[in-house]
Amino acid sequence: MINIAIDGPAGAGKSSVAKAVAAKLGFIYVDTGALYRSIGVSALRNNIQTDDAQAVEALLPEIKVELRFIDGTQRVFLNGEDVSEVIRMPEASMAASNVSAIPAVRAFLLDLQRDMAKNNNVIMDGRDIGTVILPDAQYKFFLTASAEVRADRRFKELAAKGIAVDYKALLDEIIQRDYNDSHRETAPLKQADDAILIDSSDMNIEEVINAIISNIKV
Ligand code: C5P
Repeated sequence: MINIAIDGPAGAGKSSVAKAVAAKLGFIYVDTGALYRSIGVSALRNNIQTDDAQAVEALLPEIKVELRFIDGTQRVFLNGEDVSEVIRMPEASMAASNVSAIPAVRAFLLDLQRDMAKNNNVIMDGRDIGTVILPDAQYKFFLTASAEVRADRRFKELAAKGIAVDYKALLDEIIQRDYNDSHRETAPLKQADDAILIDSSDMNIEEVINAIISNIKV
């Protein structure tokens, strides 16, 4: 199987780019952030503090997260319920960031991610795909952009869906999530030594897609 890993901070454009590359190559696109978001949503629904490691860990045996692919598009199921839209609500982002720092949560989601990559040609995006989940992936990219550019893109993305948010709050949240994600002890966000760095601050999506495709031989 061919595995492509794309890591990088929130809002760098990983999902749009990975979706397009997957469509071009006929690969499955796996969005691993959706898994952490589902655990975050589950904690919120159970009135558990998302940074309370013990309480979140105690909840895990009651959680079943599944990825299903419907017409090639990933849907995420939490205990049988399709939560693909719910997990995009802004409060799910910080909840995901908090629960993702808990080692038991990362361990809980490890096999699911590795199994997907073992059985399919995948392009998988996340924070630790090239470093921890798929260290032997044939292709690895680290996609980044300035915090301002990323907040601006997220703002427009949410606005297009009719979700109104304050730009400054979004920027602060992105900076906070970057900090959390890169400073946690388990599987922090970092570029794998053998990953190709792409800074998309001054690139449009087509340019980023081409930069990736031009490196891949299938
Ligand atoms: O990619 P997305 O913004 O949906 O991810 C939500 C949060 O989940 C991130 O801020 C990060 O804390 C966490 N995450 C992670 N490892 C991944 C994917 C996401 O820690 N592979």
